[in-house]
Amino acid sequence: MITVIKPGTKEQQLESLIKWFKDQGLDVHVSKGHYQTVLGIVGDTGRVDIDLLEGLDMVERVQRVSDPFKKANRKFHPEDSEIECGGGVKIGGGSFALIAGPCSVESKEQITLVAREVKEAGASLLRGGAFKPRTSPYDFQGLKAEGIEMLLEAKKETGLPIVTEIMNAEHLPLFEEVDVIQVGARNMQNFELLKELGRTDKPILLKRGLANTLKELLMSAEYIMAGGNEKIIFCERGIRTFETYTRNTLDLSAVPVLKELSHLPVVIDPSHATGKASLVLPMALAATAAGADGLMIEVHNDPAKALCDGAQSLTPARFEQLAKQVSKIREAMADA
Ligand code: PEP
Ligand code: MN
Repeated sequence: MITVIKPGTKEQQLESLIKWFKDQGLDVHVSKGHYQTVLGIVGDTGRVDIDLLEGLDMVERVQRVSDPFKKANRKFHPEDSEIECGGGVKIGGGSFALIAGPCSVESKEQITLVAREVKEAGASLLRGGAFKPRTSPYDFQGLKAEGIEMLLEAKKETGLPIVTEIMNAEHLPLFEEVDVIQVGARNMQNFELLKELGRTDKPILLKRGLANTLKELLMSAEYIMAGGNEKIIFCERGIRTFETYTRNTLDLSAVPVLKELSHLPVVIDPSHATGKASLVLPMALAATAAGADGLMIEVHNDPAKALCDGAQSLTPARFEQLAKQVSKIREAMADA
């Protein structure tokens, strides 16, 4: 990081700024030119409060030369990370996974039926919401602990590892047997939740926020990784733009961008990105061609009666078609 000092700054002020950096465990290289003094700050500058620094009278400008995310950064970890999701299922580093299931767990029969059907069609993980972040407090909020129990029964019956969303760190004891914990878009910057998840050793499927940049998504991963849990899977689920025809706008460039910047795997969720069942297949194929490490698809046994997100849910038969076409794209990519 470089800090350019304004001309005319008193030596004593400069010394106190240098001490401020050193007190934070950083090395300071001072370069005094005719007109300007430049400080080169070396070390873990991720913790430096840039706004505070830029607000000082003596500081002309501050420029970062390295990224504030270290553990998620590909520069320090050139190999792709492969995340072990339970039951021998892996995501990343060449391993591709289809994650499928209903938006919310509605009953034992429903989740077990969908689990069987998506497994048959080629899914390797079962998803289902037990705690649902709904825009309206009057909408179905999920079956909570009971929903997790039902997911565990479906897991027992099919052998599929399960993915389900956490909304509050206090619920962590309920997630003991959950294979992958999802952090939903609305909680991407719930930093206290991220810190708690950093203390677990569960793989975390971290969804991009509705209006967050990719750099912010990387920083959220860094929160979890800084606590010791490095098992993160990114999930792009569309962002808010001026377009309203689709529920969100799927930012497919998230795949190559995140892969350029990070070693962590990237999964695409075309269901929440588009909000329309008819658009899920084309975007799933495009995401696969863009190099995604997996897809998360909402599948319901009877979408018209779904308690949540029926319009974007595929029937098991449509999911099977999708799985077949996705594997054709993957074969074509392997041949190329
Ligand atoms: C979900 O996956 O069910 C969900 C609520 O998605 P998102 O957080 O992306 O809106
Ligand atoms: Mn949903």
